[in-house]
Amino acid sequence: MTPSRARRTIVVGLDCAPPRLLFDRFASAMPTLRRLRAMGSWGVLRSVVPPITVPAWACATTGRDAGELGLYGFRNRAPASYGMRTATSADVDAPHVWDRVVARGERAAALFVPPSYPSRAEASTRLVEVSCMLTPGADVVHTWPPALGAELAARFGPYVPDLERTLEGEAAMDALFAMARQHFDIAEHVLATHDPRLAFLVEIGTDRLNHLFWPLLDPSDPRHVPEHPIARMACDYYGYLDLRIERLIERSGPDTNLIVMSDHGARPLLGGVHVNELLRREGLLVLRRSPREDEPLTPELVDWSRTKAWSDGGYYARVFLNVRDREPEGLVSLDEREPLLARIDALLREVPDPSGRGHSVVRPREAFRQVRGRAPDLLVFFGDLALRSLGAVGARDIVVGPDVVERDGGRGGCNHDWEGAYVAAGPDWPRRGERPRELATLLADL
Ligand SMILES: [Zn+2]
Repeated sequence: MTPSRARRTIVVGLDCAPPRLLFDRFASAMPTLRRLRAMGSWGVLRSVVPPITVPAWACATTGRDAGELGLYGFRNRAPASYGMRTATSADVDAPHVWDRVVARGERAAALFVPPSYPSRAEASTRLVEVSCMLTPGADVVHTWPPALGAELAARFGPYVPDLERTLEGEAAMDALFAMARQHFDIAEHVLATHDPRLAFLVEIGTDRLNHLFWPLLDPSDPRHVPEHPIARMACDYYGYLDLRIERLIERSGPDTNLIVMSDHGARPLLGGVHVNELLRREGLLVLRRSPREDEPLTPELVDWSRTKAWSDGGYYARVFLNVRDREPEGLVSLDEREPLLARIDALLREVPDPSGRGHSVVRPREAFRQVRGRAPDLLVFFGDLALRSLGAVGARDIVVGPDVVERDGGRGGCNHDWEGAYVAAGPDWPRRGERPRELATLLADL
């Protein structure tokens, strides 16, 4: 590691912020970011496998890949069960970049960085932490030290970990502004009171914005509506984030490294693939009864004694084989595994692809240095992330358009994309101009 010349490094994570908004569509509203780009390095930040918030930030902050962490999504297989459970901070057993700073005897702050709920009880007095969007509400302990939560609430109101999911339209935009204001107020307060060597914050609102409104923001989206008032508000929102980044720099002083980065990007959602329905029609997934139309697949619905493969939906499909001695009612033998995977691989590649980008089917050993936890047997990126994977059964069509996807999985709006973005400037980030970097290694020297 090269010794740092900066007194402090501030990392501002803008979840899901893509190059086309930061460097193009909204660049005129972000004078601070333009200045930082001219001073340092910037460009596309290639995300990790899978490009999903919880594993992506965990990989960025630990330098491990998702297989090494055994963290494959927002939800992961529960042990000894066919069910899934939501990720927690305990799912990351490698040191984060701020743990390394604290171990060197310096102070650090980790604010709203997924996955950081629950806040870790063993944390050092040199670390200040506020839990991320996984925090179930303002009334649970969500800070380290625990008493900090009440102090922050007295100053900045009840903690808002995430955007209220029922909000839409201009009310959602107002709430995004309010959430960013509170998060940056907390960050400024922690800078002033804790004086950390490293301050790392993640704003989740940029991700929520894309999922709510992407077709209004991106002219390349087939569902684009030009000149929509929400697009103007979204541009103002990016302008507000830029202003708050400027204020962080002012309060921190000139010998500060400032890194703005996203964990993945966003791209138009072109449709979805009913992967479980496909497996069901192939006889690989067997149900206990006929499904209702578009019925979510639950473990209770499946006849596991006759099922060889099933999938979990989302931005990518995780296909699991029902392996003997691994799954509770596994029936696929060791010898049967490879031919079965080859058969499913071929089946998935034949799914019609309206995006024309091609489906990518990956084995965990190809994607990861190590494969821990309950890894999927296949990772499938339909249309190379243009199409969502849909878990419901009883669907009429295997491939459906974006409007059906939004009915199946809640918010559609955009799909995640491989290309995130970064800007880095300061004493340790001399002027290098535009150069692509990798999410997995950007923070290696901190
Ligand atoms: Zn994200």
